[in-house]
Amino acid sequence: GADSPVVVVANRLPVDQVTGADGEPRWQRSPGGLVTALEPFVAGRGGAWVGWSGSAGEAPEPFESGGMSLIPVALTDDEVDRYYEGMSNASLWPLYHDVVEKPEYHRNWWDTYVQVNKRFAQRAAEVAAENAIVWVHDYQLQLVPALLRQQRPDLTIGFFLHIPFPPYELFTQLPWRSAIVEGLLGADLVGFQRPAAAQNFVQLARRLHDLPARGQVVEYDGRTVAARAFPISIDVAAFDELARSPEVLARAKEIREELGSPSTIILGVDRLDYTKGIGVRLEAFEELLEDGAVEAPDTVLVQVATPSRERVEHYVHMRETIEQQVGHINGVFGSIAGPAVHYFNQSMPREELAALYRAADVMLVTPYRDGMNLVAKEYVAARGDLGGALVLSEFAGAAAELKQAFLVNPHDIAGVKSQLLRALRMEPAEGAKRMRAMRRHLFKNDLDHWASSFFEALRSQASGQPTGR
Ligand code: UDP
Repeated sequence: GADSPVVVVANRLPVDQVTGADGEPRWQRSPGGLVTALEPFVAGRGGAWVGWSGSAGEAPEPFESGGMSLIPVALTDDEVDRYYEGMSNASLWPLYHDVVEKPEYHRNWWDTYVQVNKRFAQRAAEVAAENAIVWVHDYQLQLVPALLRQQRPDLTIGFFLHIPFPPYELFTQLPWRSAIVEGLLGADLVGFQRPAAAQNFVQLARRLHDLPARGQVVEYDGRTVAARAFPISIDVAAFDELARSPEVLARAKEIREELGSPSTIILGVDRLDYTKGIGVRLEAFEELLEDGAVEAPDTVLVQVATPSRERVEHYVHMRETIEQQVGHINGVFGSIAGPAVHYFNQSMPREELAALYRAADVMLVTPYRDGMNLVAKEYVAARGDLGGALVLSEFAGAAAELKQAFLVNPHDIAGVKSQLLRALRMEPAEGAKRMRAMRRHLFKNDLDHWASSFFEALRSQASGQPTGR
């Protein structure tokens, strides 16, 4: 019934369907950080979470899990193709990441996106109690705020975009640009990862819709819509603790030995995505080997490239390119003693990642554009020993916060090389100073802080509306 005081709406439910030991399917809590962050606000108060189960076909009946009502939304095979893989991941994803790859625009993808957004909005409208707070997440569901407000003007509606939001000049490529902006304007508060993204949104509302705006607040339809940055984070204390555990420390030592006890380990951890700049890293490392600035296998690069979106053409092609590049580097610079690049097209568990972070002398994070980049934050959280160094792209959201990292422009290979060398050659005392400053920032700005500041801002924004909700 319509009785949930807090409703989260996200593309995915916070659970995955797995097969139990008895061969029967069952639900298991998803490992993602978002679930951990939101659960305390939703669970225990009869809160609900509306989302897709992850597989096409009929939706299961709503069920209770972790103190929340989970409300599955059904998607057909065609809808998964057009709404999810098409409009979300082949139009919006590249457009919002600075058109690193050329976005494709198809009218039938858009039509399905609208249809699916309506279904999510409908389900949320059904379960939300009178005056409930609804928090809508991410680029797959940008029309939900306005659709929901049409049906349920009593609700307080927040929206958070986990990925970047592009400037006017790029966004206006989108044939359905006005509909998306209007969709978002249905919210009381629109949250972004970076202040620049919030500014981009306000500017769009102004220029595209001719709306009056004061600072970060847009006037629309007799209400105000606030746009602000809420940089997402991780459970810093939990990651710190994990990385200090005897098991992880022992594994970190073992990893170094298994790599042939190199004096320097450089690490990259990414989903295999064209936004991540994995090729840049390989190129910079290869040139340093060519220059003789570093030598393999005394210095190695470990690159974890987790499989991702394997049905989308760009990703297939990208994987081939990266693997050729790795093969080429190892062909030239590897030896019987071992390769120069250790490449893994695999997903690693958290514990193994924590051990890799501990083992790595330099963490190399070079996305062309990234909403936040949690890997960078995890690396810092894992270095309670104040060891290691972070080389970080200025185009990752994390760069706005981790200012003591060695910041790089991933389009500038010479700059990446020189920053990487600086990081490799830095005095331990300087490294510790940088790491301490970054850790201090993270401990103050963890995931709880993110979720509670968003809720607080949402409540206060809604209470200032003319209707006085
Ligand atoms: N991750 C993981 N196993 C892997 C690679 C990555 O669990 O093999 C996790 C990583 O710890 C991080 C997340 O996936 O929490 C990646 O988040 P990030 O913001 O860096 O990038 P995204 O994949 O969301 O673009």
